[in-house]
Amino acid sequence: MADNTTIPFFRYATSYLPYEEELFEIVRDVMARGAFVLQEDLRSFERNLAAFLGVGSALGVANGTDGLVLALRAVGVGPGDEVILPAHTYVATAAAVHFVGANPVLVECGTDHLIDPVAAEAAITPRTRAIIPVHLNGRTCEMDALLKLVESNDLLMVEDAAQAIGSRYRGRAAGSFGHAAAYSFYPAKVLGSLGDSGAVVTSDTLIAEKVSLLRDHGRDNDGVVVAWGMNSRLDNLQAAILDFKLERLHLDLERRRQIARKYDAALAEIDELVLPPSPDASTERYDVFQNYELESPRRSEFRAHLQAQGVTTIEQWGGRAVHQFPGLNLRADLPFTEAIMNRSFLLPMNVTLTDDEVDHICAAVRSFHGLPS
Ligand SMILES: *Cc1c(COP(=O)(O)O)cnc(C)c1O
Repeated sequence: MADNTTIPFFRYATSYLPYEEELFEIVRDVMARGAFVLQEDLRSFERNLAAFLGVGSALGVANGTDGLVLALRAVGVGPGDEVILPAHTYVATAAAVHFVGANPVLVECGTDHLIDPVAAEAAITPRTRAIIPVHLNGRTCEMDALLKLVESNDLLMVEDAAQAIGSRYRGRAAGSFGHAAAYSFYPAKVLGSLGDSGAVVTSDTLIAEKVSLLRDHGRDNDGVVVAWGMNSRLDNLQAAILDFKLERLHLDLERRRQIARKYDAALAEIDELVLPPSPDASTERYDVFQNYELESPRRSEFRAHLQAQGVTTIEQWGGRAVHQFPGLNLRADLPFTEAIMNRSFLLPMNVTLTDDEVDHICAAVRSFHGLPS
């Protein structure tokens, strides 16, 4: 590619372009019907999402964070409860626990950057009520070990699947293992809407009914208020757009895996880097690569070199785990997570990248390590 190549980390303005005409048609159609709130497009998306994930119910909500709050409330987590979650996650996971009145208990991640089941087990106390596995970077957590913990300690499991729609572990979808799970459809997520949106899924009909009430002012099907609820509905227009995009999601997932495969082929020989597991590393997993998070012992020089080659990278969560934001007062001693936060960053990973751009990124990474393209 030309020397003046610039590859932004994400392209918000062009991510919808391949379907521009279809999306305008959807907007026109929804406007013509005046179908804005809790209408058929939402119900259709909810049915299709539940079928895609293999769960009993899906409920559209305003965003992924609200989805976590609603899921925690619906399964029965509340004041005084402790909830175990990894420190290497977005602040939203911990904020959801905080806003249901429970206490977030932060634990270490493992070498794949996902919650370490051994650390989770060690954090269990008589007050522990739930565990939140966060399926970070499009990879499903070690669910066999986590399900065993939940069963043997009589805990609840709410999955944070905000980064993992379509990810699978032993044939089951991320988000289908626990009592409930939340997804985010923020524009930069694997399945992105044109703004904020999210969903809660569950196979428990009572939990589904509760989420359905709580997202709509606590109103039942007859409009009678039966609980303190929120207004956290998924806009019907966003649902119509998501329903359209969900049909094509498998193509996007395959493209992300193809980019990850190219990164792996070009970078695996560089000993000082720690790469995410290759998409072909295990037949029991289908990782969807929301992010490509790697570790380097020379992160700042390496990132500066990539930037000089026109490749923009970022540090997830601004380079800090949840306990590293002093304003939240969540003290924890997590040396492994802190070491990972000091070494890791994200290469561009999204479906707007062309093969030439991926090759350019690989060449830039290799040149920093003294290797030819
Ligand atoms: C994006 C994200 C969320 C929050 O989703 P929003 O839709 O932005 O509220 C929660 N957890 C994780 C891990 C995320 O990446």
